Parts: sequence; C-alpha cells; structure tokens
Amino acid sequence: MKKITIAIDGFSSCGKSTMAKDLAKEIGYIYIDSGAMYRAVTLFCIENSLFTSDGEVNAEELKKRIGEINISFRLNDMTSKPETFLNGVNVESKIRTMDVSSRVSLVAALGFVRKALVKQQQEMGKNKGIVMDGRDIGTVVFPDAELKVFVTASAEIRAKRRYDELIAKGQNVSYDEILKNVEERDKIDQNRKVSPLRKADDAIILDNSNMSVEEQKAWLKNEYQKAAYV
Ligand code: C5P
Repeated sequence: MKKITIAIDGFSSCGKSTMAKDLAKEIGYIYIDSGAMYRAVTLFCIENSLFTSDGEVNAEELKKRIGEINISFRLNDMTSKPETFLNGVNVESKIRTMDVSSRVSLVAALGFVRKALVKQQQEMGKNKGIVMDGRDIGTVVFPDAELKVFVTASAEIRAKRRYDELIAKGQNVSYDEILKNVEERDKIDQNRKVSPLRKADDAIILDNSNMSVEEQKAWLKNEYQKAAYV
C-alpha cells in the first residue's frame, strides 16, 4: 500500500487531534499537531514578555527572536503519546492552559510566524506517511495531500468536550469562558488575512456533533483505506 499524506483541518476543539493521533498510531504514520506548534510560539511570547499590556503581540520583537524558537515532538514512553518540547523543555501541559488558548490565535495570524512553521511542517511531511491536523494543512501546508478532511461540530458541543477534558486534567475552568474562547478563536482563524481557516475544495466534510469517538475513528480509517489503496 502506498504511503500517503493525510491533512485534517477544522474548527477549534472538534476532536481532530484525537482521531488523527489514533489513526497515525494504528497505521504507523507520524502524527503532527500543528496547533501545538502555534501554542508553543505563544508560550515563548508569554515567557519572554512579548505581549504588550493591552494584550497585543510585540510582533517586531518576536520577528527578531523567531530563530531562537525550536519546537520538537517526542513520544512519552509511558503513554505512547507525542509531547511538545520548546527549546528542549517539555511544555505539553503549559501550552494547553486557557492563558495560551486565549492568545494563540493572535500569534497564529502573524505572517512571519506562519511562514516559519509551515516550512518546518512541510519538512516533517516530505516523505509522506504523515497525519497532520490544524487549520491550513489541506489548503497551504500539503495542498497535494491524498486525503483531506474538514471536521466541524457545533460550538456548544466543542466547548463541552474541551471543558470535560480540562476538568479531567484538574484545571479550574468555566464552561462559559471556554465557549467564548472557542467562538473567538473560530472568528479570528476564519477572518485572518494570512491562510484563513477554510475547507479545501477537495476536502471531505465530517460533522461529528453526534458521533462517538469510536465512530469517528472508524470513519477516518475507512477514508484512509479508500485513499491509500488506489
Ligand atoms: O489545534 P489547536 O486548537 O490547538 O490550535 C490552536 C490555535 O493555533 C488555533 O486556534 C489557530 O489559531 C492556530 N492554528 C493555526 N494553524 C494551524 C493550527 C493551529 O492557525 N495549522
């Protein structure tokens, strides 16, 4: 069976990474969470005081320092799940906080940040055999991907899923705050000038509002088999 490239895009918190990660593990492909890369750059900005007091990114300073940011992924031996490293430090939990979630879309709207990360993402996928999820994977990063999926679900359902996930991790969050964040990120991601979130013309839509995780996994595996066996 030939190795292919699988691009999974869609709105915030719609379960893209869970299904992408599971499929990659099952079929022995590399899995890359491109959102984690934008989150890591955002954490770098927070830790280096690159947000102004009114919440804007100091883009000029970030541009000068973008070369200092090294992002990598390593598998956790205990969980067999990939974790994100920023300049050699494991930042997997730090990048999932509300503080990062509320600022990441501002950082991701900057053209020079996207250019730097897209270059790394294309490098990671040059030998195919990769599942990558994000917002611009099927449109910009891998426009020639053999399988493109665009995932969506209602904002309320997505916020509830994210809420349950963060509560399970012991974070003190409110459902209303998460719903607001999900809606705000969708708005910024869809309306930014550079690589806005949109469905690639040749992507298959998956509305998973009323699907269980198991049903989504089976759906994706089936689409993969159709795309890889031709
Ligand atoms: O996927 P996740 O929700 O973790 O992504 C966090 C944010 O990173 C998104 O809301 C979006 O602003 C940005 N992002 C992006 N392009 C990608 C992946 C994520 O702009 N390919």
